[in-house]
Amino acid sequence: MLEQAQRVLKDIFGYDSFRGRQGDIIERVANGGDALVLMPTGGGKSLCFQVPALLRDGLAVVVSPLIALMDDQVATLEELGVAAAALNSTLNAEQQRDLANRIKRGEVKMLYLAPERLVQPRMMAFLQSLDIALFAIDEAHCVSQWGHDFRPEYLQLGQLAEVFPNVPRIALTATADKRTREEIVTRLHLQNAERFLSSFDRPNIFYRIVPKEQPRKQLLAFLSERRSDAGIVYCLSRKKVDEVAKFLCDQGFPALPYHAGLPSDTRAANQKRFLNEEGLIMVATIAFGMGIDKSNVRFVAHLDLPKSLEAYYQETGRAGRDGLPADAWMAYGLQDVVMLKQMLQNSEGDERHKRLEHHKLDAMLSLCEETRCRRQTLLAYFDEDMPQPCGHCDNCVDGVQTWDATEPARQALSAIYRTGQRYGTGHLIDVLLGRENEKIRSVGHQHLSVFGVGKDRSEGDWRTLFRQLVARGLADIDIEGYGGLRLSDSCRPLLRGEVTLELRRELKPQTSVKSSSASPASQLVRGEEREQWEALRALRRKLAEEHGVPPYVIFPDSTLLEMLRSQPSSLSEMATVSGVGARKLERYGEAFLEVLGGQAETPKVVADIRHELISLARAGMTPLQISGQLQCSEKNVYTMLAEAIGRQELSLEQALDLPEELMEEVQDAFLDGEGELPSVASIAEQFKGRVPEGVLYCVRAALQSEFEI
Ligand code: ADP
Ligand code: ZN
Repeated sequence: MLEQAQRVLKDIFGYDSFRGRQGDIIERVANGGDALVLMPTGGGKSLCFQVPALLRDGLAVVVSPLIALMDDQVATLEELGVAAAALNSTLNAEQQRDLANRIKRGEVKMLYLAPERLVQPRMMAFLQSLDIALFAIDEAHCVSQWGHDFRPEYLQLGQLAEVFPNVPRIALTATADKRTREEIVTRLHLQNAERFLSSFDRPNIFYRIVPKEQPRKQLLAFLSERRSDAGIVYCLSRKKVDEVAKFLCDQGFPALPYHAGLPSDTRAANQKRFLNEEGLIMVATIAFGMGIDKSNVRFVAHLDLPKSLEAYYQETGRAGRDGLPADAWMAYGLQDVVMLKQMLQNSEGDERHKRLEHHKLDAMLSLCEETRCRRQTLLAYFDEDMPQPCGHCDNCVDGVQTWDATEPARQALSAIYRTGQRYGTGHLIDVLLGRENEKIRSVGHQHLSVFGVGKDRSEGDWRTLFRQLVARGLADIDIEGYGGLRLSDSCRPLLRGEVTLELRRELKPQTSVKSSSASPASQLVRGEEREQWEALRALRRKLAEEHGVPPYVIFPDSTLLEMLRSQPSSLSEMATVSGVGARKLERYGEAFLEVLGGQAETPKVVADIRHELISLARAGMTPLQISGQLQCSEKNVYTMLAEAIGRQELSLEQALDLPEELMEEVQDAFLDGEGELPSVASIAEQFKGRVPEGVLYCVRAALQSEFEI
């Protein structure tokens, strides 16, 4: 089974090997077992049901919550030559009838559906009348009532277990936590499912978190190293989204806004542009994200703090689905915390819930002030142990220096206390620096003992210190009042001099801006490669427009990059590039070769043609396609195929594209008599008009070589 799966992987998808546990999962489902798959975004979940769907008889039914997701996957499959369709509200009655008829005739291999559609009694009855290969339930965490993506319709999917007891079911999600996992199992009746848990690490993402100083300038520095890359910039408020998008446009970066306050057609249009065009920056609130399948999002930047590590992980996870280097960058400051805490306090919900949300925010804060590896901390939060620092985050790469902040921290805490625990950092810093302004005088703070004790430090240093005190939970934000700072219980030991405090030392602003931009992702293509890279992308864009699909559906960036690096000079070499399956080779191979070589193919000598023929056949091309590709007659192709089979360079399955029954019939015809194999001529009559004569030569060659062994 695994061998067949491997062939489908190569022939259809153009990939050489399975990633992670894909092979095990595919084997399990292809053999009729249930599976629960937890894999991070970009891990390759789709193949886990698409390959078994192609290996099993009947229709594969895929449940997906969003129309955008369905359309994207259907387009991708169609590009690969797989008969897929989506049944959703965008089809009118006639189109739906058409689709139903195609399904009845067995012309559709994979059907994408929304859950509410699937569980309609008529739909269930229709499916019961068919041969079903499997059910795949994508984004299975939508069944969880605790998650933020809860979809009540998902609860009804549990009935599939009873109605289709013999059809394998596979549920997939990128949501990591245990609680959601257990909920999926119970609600979808997946007690017998084998569980496949992958690491949630996203090794290609480089994490960097910098203190917010001049956020726009910092963002520009970050973006200027990434011109013509696509990315997402997250902001907390709609207003800020609009402002930042405009600012970026003014600065010459192509940016679009996205938030729930925009008219729905603007939103849809902007999303569509982001998916279909290259190098666009989407400035967005968290309303933007779910269902964004775009594989070449090169960076996710946060201009405001997400409210939990779950949110941070999910949002940053939209970068680099294609596995190529990508960046997660964030600038955060104390003001973010004040704002989030106030929002939380004013939100609806009971006290228990709010407490939980505050804890989540605190965990997010500690990641920001973390002195150890960011990735280790992030994964540890999701109960995953990473023994060594990752070497691929700012803390690992830059190193973190700490300093003994005991004394200034006590001064700062004392300033909070002496001023009555009601002022924000601006005023507190004025007190510490001994600035005698009007506000200070009006409340008499120039007489406090702490007034001016902090003159030897800069305003920026104090700002950093206050931020870190809050992040460490030593000071609190007074969210019922005006967002002033208060002491928290945990600061007592420090004030009493019982403990010391080590804090991370921030890099100086100029270096931090510079190093914020240097990361591996910004060097995806080197200077001298750029021209050809742009040419490849331009061709891809043109083809995408012609086919009405997003560019990454034609080829993902990773495939283009491999073309660029390996410089294939023939179709057979092109076939070895990861992501180039038979169908795409046939459709696009020549065009991309031309861009790479800059010249048309020269006439080939016979040895080259033979060599190429074998590669093409191994890549899954049919004899007819090969004849088109090599520009020689079909008859010649069959002759060469038969020779290659005779030399055992090709298997019969690789060479031919014949239904299994027919293949058996032909083999039986040869094996009917006793003794010598009959000649092709002697059985040709029997198959006239049903198979090309060349097929008979191939089968005979295969049998002959078998007998000789
Ligand atoms: P997920 O649904 O888990 O986020 P996808 O199924 O969209 O991930 O896969 C992410 C990308 O990785 C896609 O471009 C896909 O074609 C590619 N991919 C998946 N499996 C493999 C593999 N075995 N070899 C190479 N690329 C793969
Ligand atoms: Zn690290």
